[in-house]
Amino acid sequence: TVFDTLQDRLAATFKTLRGKGRLSDADIDATCREIRIALLEADVALAVVKDFVAAVKERARGAELSGALNPAQQVIKIVNDELIGILGGETRVLRFAKRPPTVIMLAGLQGSGKTTLAGKLALWLKEQGHSPLLVAADLQRPNAVTQLQVVGQRAGVHVFAPEPGNGVGDPIRVARDSVSEAQHKLYDVVIVDTAGRLGVDSELMQQAADIRDAVNPDEVLFVVDAMIGQDAVNTARAFAAGVGYDGVVLTKLDGDARGGAALSIARVTGRPIMFASNGEQLKDFDVFHPDRMASRILGMGDMLTLIEQAEKTFDAEQSAKAAAKLTGQGGEFGLNDFLQQMQMVRKMGPLSKIFGMLPGMGEMKEQIAGIDEKEVDRIEAIIYSMTPTERDNPKIIDGSRRARIARGSGVEVSEVNSLVNRFFEARKMMMSMASRKMPGMPGLPGM
Ligand code: GDP
Repeated sequence: TVFDTLQDRLAATFKTLRGKGRLSDADIDATCREIRIALLEADVALAVVKDFVAAVKERARGAELSGALNPAQQVIKIVNDELIGILGGETRVLRFAKRPPTVIMLAGLQGSGKTTLAGKLALWLKEQGHSPLLVAADLQRPNAVTQLQVVGQRAGVHVFAPEPGNGVGDPIRVARDSVSEAQHKLYDVVIVDTAGRLGVDSELMQQAADIRDAVNPDEVLFVVDAMIGQDAVNTARAFAAGVGYDGVVLTKLDGDARGGAALSIARVTGRPIMFASNGEQLKDFDVFHPDRMASRILGMGDMLTLIEQAEKTFDAEQSAKAAAKLTGQGGEFGLNDFLQQMQMVRKMGPLSKIFGMLPGMGEMKEQIAGIDEKEVDRIEAIIYSMTPTERDNPKIIDGSRRARIARGSGVEVSEVNSLVNRFFEARKMMMSMASRKMPGMPGLPGM
């Protein structure tokens, strides 16, 4: 992600603190210097870095030696708190109008990901039971309307666009009409996609301001590409002055450019980051949680996001059955259960993405990137070559059965051996986890 380098540098900094009984002022100074360099290298705005480091230093020096945390953990906790602070503190949720429709207006530069975001937001709202209407008020780019229609189709959401010959070229009128359309047809949220330019210009700002005045939005969201570096901060300021907005949406967080500038936006503009986009697919989108982002940057993983995602994807009934088996109720946990768990994990997205969210995995990034999705295909193939009895009771899989399974799935016998061994190990681990009442995380084969 755009925060990789920052993550690596901070992890290295904290590593040097590990094992220290107490921190001298010199230790704290050295750590703060490292943090400063890490943030600046990540492209966080200078003024934000200065305040940040000063706050960390002051708190670290004054830190009570609490029994619960060692000094390294104390520093990490302070940095975590301060990061949450610059990211806006509390999670800011969307405000809905008392009387529908709620009007959400999107503003931002061309290419920032507005149109894509409109689709993501619409799908997300739809999944929560709302009936959103997408509005094509970007009449600048010739194919912008078509693009929104494509996005709307993918999200399964209606798109309001000017009729040919009626209001074409007048985005303000289209925006205004869309609100009455929503009232008549009972759409409860209107998402207005506006035109962007490649750079900030006054005509663009005027148009956005006119649309704002015409539709009186409940939320104006400023959409910004996290990969554009310090320009993100400058653009955020320009839009704040020109149109004004209630919240920020960061896009392209999956990119590989330094995204630290995005971390400065909330602090610099005083507006919360409300959503984050991290991919080209409509589902690559989520509410922005400052606390989760902070712990992710600190390499603690984003357990909450993972658990939430797991909840969304997981078949509750199936999981409950598997969990019961693991705690010794409801029969033996067999290879079919194993396969089902694996397939559910897989549905959550590419394995590398899932592992990136697990705590402590920050340092294992190389190996994670190397996890081969094809390996999972092979495991599936091997299990599919087994009989139902073998899957339910893997203990019976002896030498001759292994040879048959290997032949059936087109792999070497050694691979069947390794799968069966890994299954037994994984089952043991999952059973001990289940008995300790760990949160319902799925078991992962041999990883
Ligand atoms: P607009 O001009 O502001 O409407 O921007 P678009 O929605 O057309 O997006 C511009 C480009 O960025 C398109 O190619 C999108 O597929 C891509 N894009 C949008 N959001 C993301 C994201 O979160 N991650 C990545 N990798 N690409 C994105």
